[in-house]
Amino acid sequence: MRRFERKQRIFRNKDALGESYQPDRIEERDDEINQYMDALQPIVDGWEPNNIFLYGNTGVGKTAVTDYLLEQLQTDVAQYDDVDLSVISINCKTLNSSYQVAVKLVNELRPSGGEISSTGYPQQTVFNKLYEELEAIGGTVLVVLDEIDSIGDRDELLYELPRAQANGNLEETKVGLIGISNDFTFRKQLDPRVQDTLCERELQFPPYEAPELENILASRATIAIADDAIDQGVLSFCAALAARDSGSARQALDLLRLAGEIAENRDEDAITQDHVEEARSRFEQERVEEGMRELTAHGELALLAVVSKTAKEETPCRTRALYTEYKKLCELTETDSLTQRSVHSHLTDLRMLGILTAYENRNGSRGNYYSYELDVPFDSAMEAMSDVSQLDNLCERIREIAVANNV
Ligand code: ADP
Ligand code: MG
Repeated sequence: MRRFERKQRIFRNKDALGESYQPDRIEERDDEINQYMDALQPIVDGWEPNNIFLYGNTGVGKTAVTDYLLEQLQTDVAQYDDVDLSVISINCKTLNSSYQVAVKLVNELRPSGGEISSTGYPQQTVFNKLYEELEAIGGTVLVVLDEIDSIGDRDELLYELPRAQANGNLEETKVGLIGISNDFTFRKQLDPRVQDTLCERELQFPPYEAPELENILASRATIAIADDAIDQGVLSFCAALAARDSGSARQALDLLRLAGEIAENRDEDAITQDHVEEARSRFEQERVEEGMRELTAHGELALLAVVSKTAKEETPCRTRALYTEYKKLCELTETDSLTQRSVHSHLTDLRMLGILTAYENRNGSRGNYYSYELDVPFDSAMEAMSDVSQLDNLCERIREIAVANNV
């Protein structure tokens, strides 16, 4: 029988490619860091802090840069006796209202044992408890709410907290809010009064381009990967793939890590471009399957309509034609069809999941229309559809059409 055996030929420190690793160096973000530092400067000068709203797609360094700068800020203000700075930082991913965020903040600030329960209080009571805790700290408190978009439209806290001193809820403590969001549309959906305060200083992190990603990867690979365990061109290949897709450093690092694992599992001496290619296709498959698990029956049929059009080489395809295809599929599966409008909203969801790409076409005076195509390889979509859904038979038929068309 096979036994466990240590394998460290490829990785020197695999954790350095992982989610929780905090890099010592931030590459390629000098302009953004300068703007961020300017926005934080009033704290150093002893004035009231700005509220800051930071947004950018996932993986563009928002959390890494924030952690890095706030650590530096704390070190650098230690020399000024009249600045008393505390930072409290939470991730809101699993918190979907102001209430839950406030409870989490209270519990972070209270000593263990004194936590409050996450249900059962009126919202204002929780806010008041939060003010009590903040007031007890004194000085300047920076509250960092990462992935704040989860809070949705229950955003009262974002209105209240920046005004706490003006409204007499806080006397001693000055609060600055740093909101970080992966989703720019979140800003637009905020109450205008919240926008005014929270977005006092607005910072945007753009997606990385390939050369930037390559530098980030190179600095991480030195720590993570053993000498000579990586073929020439592998880093630029990972960087190019991630740049073309999302511009996300996380995606680039994930590709490198999985490629390394594949090489390691096969007892090979070095990571090659083939390993990266394989890693990419596994991630893609995972992403489609994950997205598909979220789909309702009609979401699946809408996707299948696009898949079917792809098999016929008829994509990108307009909503109207996809709707006709969708209705055919509904008939075949004896499902009542939804309206074109609802199907369009399913197509939009599929685009958000990264399964479809949409193109906006201008149509003169008659307004714009959208057309869609798969944003993942046909085979991955097919594979995932026949794995997850109840649509095996249809998939078989579509596969035959695809083969006939050489898709
Ligand atoms: P975001 O918060 O925008 O989703 P992160 O800050 O978590 O992205 O970055 C994703 C990963 O990429 C993390 O492992 C982070 O350390 C790394 N990273 C991102 N930008 C940089 C950079 N400029 N220099 C070094 N590492 C970076
Ligand atoms: Mg983040």
